[in-house]
Amino acid sequence: MKNCSIKDLLLSTKTISKVTINGWVRTFRANRFIALNDGSSISSVQCVVDFENFDESILKKINTGTSLEITGDLVESQGSGQKFEIIVSNLKVLGECDSEEFPIQPKKHSFEFLRENAHLRTRTNTFSAIMRLRSSLSFAVHNYFNSNGFYYVHTPIITSSDAEGAGEQFRVTTLDPKSPPLNENSEVDFTKDFFGKETSLTVSGQLEAETYAMSLGKVYTFGPTFRAENSNTSRHLSEFWMIEPEVAFMDLNGNMDLAESFLKYLLKYIIQNNIEDLQFLEQRLINEDKTKPQNLRNEMTLIDKINFVINNDFMRVSYTEAFEILKNCKPNKKKKFKYLIENWGADLQSEHERYLVEKHFKCPVIIYDYPAKIKAFYMKLNEDNKTVKAMDILFPGIGEIVGGSQREERLDILNKKMNDIGVNPEDLWWYTDLRKFGTAQHSGFGLGFERLIMFATGMSNIRDVIPFPRTPQNAEF
Ligand code: ATP
Ligand code: MN
Repeated sequence: MKNCSIKDLLLSTKTISKVTINGWVRTFRANRFIALNDGSSISSVQCVVDFENFDESILKKINTGTSLEITGDLVESQGSGQKFEIIVSNLKVLGECDSEEFPIQPKKHSFEFLRENAHLRTRTNTFSAIMRLRSSLSFAVHNYFNSNGFYYVHTPIITSSDAEGAGEQFRVTTLDPKSPPLNENSEVDFTKDFFGKETSLTVSGQLEAETYAMSLGKVYTFGPTFRAENSNTSRHLSEFWMIEPEVAFMDLNGNMDLAESFLKYLLKYIIQNNIEDLQFLEQRLINEDKTKPQNLRNEMTLIDKINFVINNDFMRVSYTEAFEILKNCKPNKKKKFKYLIENWGADLQSEHERYLVEKHFKCPVIIYDYPAKIKAFYMKLNEDNKTVKAMDILFPGIGEIVGGSQREERLDILNKKMNDIGVNPEDLWWYTDLRKFGTAQHSGFGLGFERLIMFATGMSNIRDVIPFPRTPQNAEF
């Protein structure tokens, strides 16, 4: 067998003579045992070299990080710890690796250090496991929608609708920053810019996705989104990936059902297809917990947590119910919250969301019917004229993972809401057109892909679940 992946090799049920594999050395012990990994799975294969058969000059080149081509026989292992091993008959050094200089040593590195070496961090078990899970989850996203009658829409990355993220967008321009053209009011003249108007990177594909839902019925986008919010938190990136389904004729309840079934499907998919990587990450967390005081340890292991979400209904509560719980809870009464809950209408901060999910309900929570004032203009106004058909899904350890709503499909109300917040309906003429020509109720949501991966891997910093994170002051690689 030539150029077989180590994953396939280790799935073998019998011994094989003469296989060739390629990979990178993880460790080289006792001048005899090479652990070789090619990224195909968390497992490395043990390759046994009889040093009497090889030149010492070749063996000297084998360090952690060296790339090798190895040919040998796959036999049942003599030692414990692995079923099979390779008895090496031929060994070719493809690329040497200076062990003094190579940043990834066979020891524990801090995540900060590995972030600075993000181009090499997937040589470690932890990061290769995370990125395989990321890949698998992306596939599962498409799989779910494809098998449920959704069409995949590529919404634009450059947009001119600044309605959503006022002040949080990255501008896209070809104007000379040193001497931009000015208009008669001495302001920058964007009519001279590349697109003839101000443009920026998208913060969400929703508005465009709505136009497709109102023709193809069930659609989704899955692409990068950009937010110039200067919040250096462990849950925010400046560039992140968002999954946004949008469905015609669906109301808020249908939206909640869709989001819940979708999240459960994704998590079930990795339990069924990526259990080795999950087990590895679970063990990592168990080891990490041992170094922590009892009260800071995880109550459930990673896989138990995932299964718990798969097997239990999400708790659905209205904003008003959530508000009452928070107003009367101990940390609020004892003034332990940074932002105290006093008046109906207050936005929920992450400390409140975490209290509801982790302390009160102890399960994923969907909060719906939020005060209109704290939500976007396109959400459907309820009959009380105070709340909108919004829903956020909160996950343990993560906080908000999904934000969605039933959309306002009545033209007059939509126009009024836009005017109220200072968005000119004419700037979004194509969006309001949907309410003129065959309007219908429709709904959708946005799932932050990296927040889902954080939950699925147990990683606590969002920078560690995307290959090359972009955050304020950081766009290396
Ligand atoms: P948050 O309050 O956490 O900032 P948001 O209300 O701004 O979230 P939405 O605009 O509703 O979020 O976006 C939908 C989803 O996208 C969120 O539920 C979250 O999962 C994800 N998300 C939002 N902002 C970011 C970000 N800066 N980095 C990564 N994911 C994000
Ligand atoms: Mn935000």
